[in-house]
Amino acid sequence: MADPILIGGEWKAGRAGVVTSIYPADGTVSGEVEGASPEDVDLAVAAGARAAADPAWRDKPQHERATVLYRISDIIKERHEELAQLQRRDNGKPISETRALVASAAGTFRYFGAVCETAENELTPSRGPYLTMSTWEPCGVVAAITPWNSPIASDAQKLAPALAAGNAVVLKPATNTPLVALELGRICLEAGLPPGLISVLPGAGRTVGNALIQHPDVGMVSFTGGTSTGIAIAHMAADKMMPSVLELGGKSPTIVFDDADLDHAVNGVIFGIFSSAGQSCIAGSRLFVDRKIYDAFMDKLVAKTAALRVGDPAGEDTQIGPQISESHRESIEGYVARAREEGGTVLIGGERPTGGVYDQGFFYTPTIVGGLTNAATVCQEEIFGPVLCALPFDGEDDLIEQANESIYGLACGLWTRDYKRAWRVGRRVRAGTIWINTYKLFSISTPFAGHRMSGWGVEKGRLGMRNYMRQKSFYWGMNEGPIPWAD
Ligand code: NAD
Repeated sequence: MADPILIGGEWKAGRAGVVTSIYPADGTVSGEVEGASPEDVDLAVAAGARAAADPAWRDKPQHERATVLYRISDIIKERHEELAQLQRRDNGKPISETRALVASAAGTFRYFGAVCETAENELTPSRGPYLTMSTWEPCGVVAAITPWNSPIASDAQKLAPALAAGNAVVLKPATNTPLVALELGRICLEAGLPPGLISVLPGAGRTVGNALIQHPDVGMVSFTGGTSTGIAIAHMAADKMMPSVLELGGKSPTIVFDDADLDHAVNGVIFGIFSSAGQSCIAGSRLFVDRKIYDAFMDKLVAKTAALRVGDPAGEDTQIGPQISESHRESIEGYVARAREEGGTVLIGGERPTGGVYDQGFFYTPTIVGGLTNAATVCQEEIFGPVLCALPFDGEDDLIEQANESIYGLACGLWTRDYKRAWRVGRRVRAGTIWINTYKLFSISTPFAGHRMSGWGVEKGRLGMRNYMRQKSFYWGMNEGPIPWAD
């Protein structure tokens, strides 16, 4: 019997087929939940619109609304280990990573509670005998659609600012990972969020997601996922003139200059591509190394990669878990085969590990491919797996040309001791986040945005809440005299 889902704040059976979460480390069932149908979307949106318009919530002072977000944060912290284990079962990430994602989700609710409590409207400079002000108000019902790779963190990244802004949220998690999203919904209710404000509707993107985006009473969509899905969503949103935030795919360059601390850079490059088993939008999947140090650096990199601990996600010292599904692993294998066909050399990995736990789950070895140009398929397309493409460069202009030769623009890593060069190159690379002598470092108070085909709109930071709001301007006539034209 599948578990009920959260429709308009009530736990109910969905009207579509069952959604199954599979543990990628051994293929067993982690949980079965009801799937939502377009009729369930209607119910959730109607309940959301009612709850968001209810004066009991709409007119609640910001500092009081914020207390609900603080309470959500506290409950996430109290249930930290349980949520981390649940997410491990949902998507197979190593427990050390899922613990960090739970901590991040708690921090996100706390941060946006504080943003909510301190957000101000503006009194704008008056240009005559009148008063002008600009206020911010919620969009109403927000559709939040998330991927499977970091569910609790990406769900929180949408729920927290959208709720802080005063909206209702209908969250559609990825079909592979419904469990943590439903638990987050339960926590929101336990924290005292008015029930209609939150729905969690697992189900297929094309049915639940489309019904949600196209619903006339949904006022905004916040999506994280693949670029092709993002383009389809942008079209649907444009058809009803609805604002959207789209956080999409990437093919990020990570760049090692000849003056870098090479051991530090090796660790950073490895972390950048192989953490999350490469299933990360910001994975540093294209490595550019100054040709002067290319061979020496690659020797170190391959040796260190060989020592990575691939295995059971429940293991405390596991660094790399399985891929999310068999079909995803096959897609990675297809890319590595393509790299070989196009003349690439697999320097390490490029296969399924075998024996013991490896035979039960969807594991793939950390892989480095050399000998290609940046035009190769594996250097241009997002693989979303543990595959690093290594390329030499000759001087800054050659580097910038290659690094920017991509449809994406999500992130970039720079490894150098020369801060002037880091600034110069960082400004020329087309990407929304530049990491210097570090990688995948994240702070909720710093904006995150994809450039080019990596998306539009900004998440995180104080302005992150404004995505979920609309501006309204007020003009107050202060002149007691006649209206010039009419009187
Ligand atoms: P996906 O695009 O296949 O799915 C993402 C979500 O969209 C899922 O919930 C899915 O069910 C839903 N969906 C699919 N088709 C839909 C449609 N037609 N209408 C509405 N919803 C639809 O992506 P995925 O495979 O789950 O995740 C991997 C992708 O996400 C990668 O490309 C990765 O780079 C990207 N990602 C981006 C960021 C970022 O912040 N930029 C973060 C994490 C992941």
